[in-house]
Amino acid sequence: MSEPAYVLDSTAFYAGIPYQGNGRYYTTYLVLEEVKHHSVGSSLIHSRVQVTEPTVESLNRVKTTAVKTGDVGALSQTDMSLLALALDLKGSGGGVSLVSDDFAVRNIADVLSIPLAPTSLKGGEWKNITWKIYCRGCGKTYTNPKLTVCPVCGTQLIRKASNG
Ligand SMILES: [Zn+2]
Repeated sequence: MSEPAYVLDSTAFYAGIPYQGNGRYYTTYLVLEEVKHHSVGSSLIHSRVQVTEPTVESLNRVKTTAVKTGDVGALSQTDMSLLALALDLKGSGGGVSLVSDDFAVRNIADVLSIPLAPTSLKGGEWKNITWKIYCRGCGKTYTNPKLTVCPVCGTQLIRKASNG
């Protein structure tokens, strides 16, 4: 694969990601539905972004995983369609990264081993995300992004992307 491939969420469109760089861009019909009322040029979208429906098999896998991790309430149908599409593209052997700064989406991607673009799209620029991780049980804060449960008291950790 010479060009990097990206699966884009709606914030990536608002940030103008499809109009810059030379990547191959993919998204789902649900995302297109969300962004088509915006000023983002639809003809540009059609020329640069491949709109694809994910397989039912991958959608089910994403749903099952989200139920297991407890993220299912935080995920929209659109979020799940993106994750499923990334799963399909990954399965077909292409190198693909998912672009999303939604935490629940990133969490599921992590569990399903879907590569994530290490970025957030604040202000239309690709920036590294710094996670603020804290425990609402004992109040301790952590910096290791892999931690999901507080090692001190066992409470599920809360995290927020902080873009500095
Ligand atoms: Zn704790």
